[in-house]
Amino acid sequence: MILTKQYRCIHSASCVCAKGHLTEEVIFLVFNHLNWNPKLIASLSCACKWFDDLAKRVLWKEFCKTRAPKMMLDLQSGGSHSIDGNWRALGKLLIYCSGSEKDGLFNSSHIPGHFVYRTRFSRTSGKSFLLPQCRTDVLYVSDPCEHLDQGDEGDVGFFRGIFKSFAASKVRKMLIKRSAPLHPTEVCPYCKARLWNMLAAKMIPSSASCRLGAYEDCIEYYVCLNGHVLGICTLLPLSDTDEASEEC
Ligand SMILES: [Zn+2]
Ligand SMILES: [Zn+2]
Repeated sequence: MILTKQYRCIHSASCVCAKGHLTEEVIFLVFNHLNWNPKLIASLSCACKWFDDLAKRVLWKEFCKTRAPKMMLDLQSGGSHSIDGNWRALGKLLIYCSGSEKDGLFNSSHIPGHFVYRTRFSRTSGKSFLLPQCRTDVLYVSDPCEHLDQGDEGDVGFFRGIFKSFAASKVRKMLIKRSAPLHPTEVCPYCKARLWNMLAAKMIPSSASCRLGAYEDCIEYYVCLNGHVLGICTLLPLSDTDEASEEC
């Protein structure tokens, strides 16, 4: 309904298509006006293959550039084309906490995934998740999404992130050199690629739990073949977190 209304406005102002079909230009203007509403992009993509193609090429890219302009500029700089064609995955990463399933990626109880209104991704935080010999890599990591009082597991935090130019990163080289295991069944919730286990590869430095405000031995994370990161940790009680963060 919203779409029809917006379309009429634009249509009466200047007619861009003679048959009354929506052109790419009109869709672009409409979604610009809707601030690249991700739920609307996602639901129309399910309904129309033509729209889905346009969304993958154009709309998700604009969505990402609008929501995280500095990060997108950085990810695209330096001749990296690693996110081309993967804008939808990146868009989802920006706004979706994937939670966990019982017997899924993380050995935890079922915590449903959900949309998040706004998440801060930080390149400085990302450094804490890299071994010293890999710290020239550029990794953006989110603040933990807190799921409190999860039964035996206590306060659980999920975090997610993305490597810049993952194909050329030191982390990827090291994962291959160490023959790090890929998860046998689970895939990346953002791009469906297979996932490397960073814990099994012994590549999670203690600075990561410190940064998250988590218990040191209660953190694990995975990196997919396209450089998306997803992880889980058990958060320290709040008062301890404050003290810990001062020591970081
Ligand atoms: Zn969450
Ligand atoms: Zn991925």
